[in-house]
Amino acid sequence: MTTPVQKRPCIESNRIQSVRNMVLCVLSAEVRQRHEPLYCVDVLDKSGQSGTLWKNVLKDQIHVTIADREIDDSLKSNLDTYSLKSQDLPLDINRIPGDPMEPQHVNEIFTDKINMNPNQHLVNVLDSAAMNLKHNGILCVSSTDISSKFTRTAHVIHRHYGASVIKTSYMKELALRIVIANIVRSCAKCNKGIDVLLSVCANDNFLIVVRILRGAKEGDSCINKIVPVLHCQICEERVFHPNTLSPQEDPYSLLPCSCNKNNPGKTAVILGPAWSGKLFNVSFLDSMLHGCKDMDWNFSDSFSIETLMEEAKCPKCSLPEDNSEEPDQKKTKLSPPEEPMPPFYYNLHGMKLKSVEHPKFSRLLEYLRQDGYKCSRTHLDVYGVRTNATLKQITDIMYKYCKQKS
Ligand SMILES: [Zn+2]
Repeated sequence: MTTPVQKRPCIESNRIQSVRNMVLCVLSAEVRQRHEPLYCVDVLDKSGQSGTLWKNVLKDQIHVTIADREIDDSLKSNLDTYSLKSQDLPLDINRIPGDPMEPQHVNEIFTDKINMNPNQHLVNVLDSAAMNLKHNGILCVSSTDISSKFTRTAHVIHRHYGASVIKTSYMKELALRIVIANIVRSCAKCNKGIDVLLSVCANDNFLIVVRILRGAKEGDSCINKIVPVLHCQICEERVFHPNTLSPQEDPYSLLPCSCNKNNPGKTAVILGPAWSGKLFNVSFLDSMLHGCKDMDWNFSDSFSIETLMEEAKCPKCSLPEDNSEEPDQKKTKLSPPEEPMPPFYYNLHGMKLKSVEHPKFSRLLEYLRQDGYKCSRTHLDVYGVRTNATLKQITDIMYKYCKQKS
């Protein structure tokens, strides 16, 4: 007779744990700001692992509804692990999307975790998630295998997300921006816009957190931020293509490189369309950071909120605090003015300069700042630098400050 192997609770043994921790952090930051219980929905996350975790940590501060196609025994075992009680919520087919569900008296829905598996694409559920969220509600979307999906199956991405992709050195950020563009489109259909609070990628799993803002004006301003990306195939310089009705006279002049002048043929391609707005909300990250410190949470993950903060605002370039009154009281009171970091990043490992020694990463950041450029590391790439300097300017700085090889 064989003894059955004791399974660890699935809450602990999951490779997307860092994403779950981040969602928990988002939720606790939101609870601290609202001072009232939040109504949360955990959708299509296997066995409601996130939902049980939130309820266990945040107790009476939140109400959690767990929704999945198949509710199996693992949900029960998850609930038992934390000694939580549950009650069934029967679906009402007459309910109009967007209306609150009676049994719970939902006045606020916080939808979290729309997981995408091979048979279920994220885009299928974005519309209903956007429709069901109220003003100021938060949508957290996560999915797996971002690299393989966006590099190996470009035709599937084109079919589902309506965007063109090729393998690029900044592929992860482009993927995040394409998913955000789809969230914006889903929201715009029901006259809503978004404020991107957080977009991260950890162990090939991504997490995008947005706040839903009701209003046609918000929707319009967000939809205008979805633009194509012009990408040079020779040096990988990239730039957002302006959203104009008339065609661009000389699109190659938009790129900071001169590859088209020096090489025959068409040297650039049009990728996306993708979200051109900011990827982080500094004040929200700040309140997440304070929340973690207060609750003594210490995530030993591949990324931390501190690194995201550094990425969201260049440490040396932050402006002095604005003392004007914040009109929206629901926003955090710590609202430093945000000057977003430039989009996309350069992989320095790929830069092969023959006659110059590559400096240490931190040293290069110092050189860039010394010459007045904004720059920071990025959690998306260990060798990536997010900066407003162009590739040529980075090369010039290396030649100016670094040791020449003999
Ligand atoms: Zn180029």
